[in-house]
Amino acid sequence: MISFSDITGREVFKKKLINAINNNVFPHACLLVGEKGTGKKIFAKAIANALLCEKPINSQPCGSCTHCLSEKVNGITEFYQLRATGQSIKVDDIREIIKSMSLKPTISNKKIYVIYDGEKMTPQAQNSLLKIFEEPPSYGHIIITVNNLEGIIPTVSSRATIYQIGNNSQSEIKKFLKTQSTDDKLITLASHYAEGSIGKAIKILSSEEFITTRELGVSYTESLINRNESDSFAKVESVTKENVDEFLQVVIKLFKDMVVFLETQNELLLINKDKKYMISNGINKYNSSVLLKAIFILQDTVSRLKQHASRKMTLDGMTIRILEELIND
Ligand SMILES: [Zn+2]
Repeated sequence: MISFSDITGREVFKKKLINAINNNVFPHACLLVGEKGTGKKIFAKAIANALLCEKPINSQPCGSCTHCLSEKVNGITEFYQLRATGQSIKVDDIREIIKSMSLKPTISNKKIYVIYDGEKMTPQAQNSLLKIFEEPPSYGHIIITVNNLEGIIPTVSSRATIYQIGNNSQSEIKKFLKTQSTDDKLITLASHYAEGSIGKAIKILSSEEFITTRELGVSYTESLINRNESDSFAKVESVTKENVDEFLQVVIKLFKDMVVFLETQNELLLINKDKKYMISNGINKYNSSVLLKAIFILQDTVSRLKQHASRKMTLDGMTIRILEELIND
């Protein structure tokens, strides 16, 4: 059974939730907001288990009450989970919840409804939630997970308590990854590339593709700093829709390493310690203002691609712009 102690880090946030549950003031409607892989599902389950347990010990499920022993008793559960079956969560799905919520719980003191990927609710479905938000039964709680608030209509978000899940720190991620792997080099890389998301870190750790993408990013960067035009275009040619984000992050982090190494000469601060030779080569050739311009162009490319610019044209354009800066130096 998932509890708060299964969640890595975010101690302050966990404490806030636990206090609300202990003091019986946990909101009847809340939005759990966080990027993919930050742990929304595990938070939702930990909250549900803490709320449903009849005699929690410091908000940890007791392990011996009806809910803790079995989520379902004679096929009945007070823990309802709704996921989109197709592209969207429809108004009928929400009506089911409202209907079910109007009936008192039978095997626990509470009824918990978790709606995953809340942004998939149609505006109509979201509107139909408002009724229950206004007058929730004392035993009912609705928890909605969302990546961000963009897909949630203001009337809903303004009536629910908003909990930002937040990211894990790099050291929290590293600590967690050490329980999953013994490969220190990969752990360091994954914790740097995870951007605060344990889900993303696990994906990196277990993926052959990350290593391949990283090597591609490294060899592209190498071609750039050697001002090898044809090689640079050839490398960027093999970037795919699937790995473009990761590829750009790799290149950005390599250029950032160059700036850091140039300014501090401190090897310990490098993310890509295993590429020190290449990083040194870069800083022997370029000053930090040129390197910063390259980083700017790379970050600009990330945002252009987010606006759905053509991948090939944008990456070629990026290569031309970076090479121009490097050649003019
Ligand atoms: Zn219990």
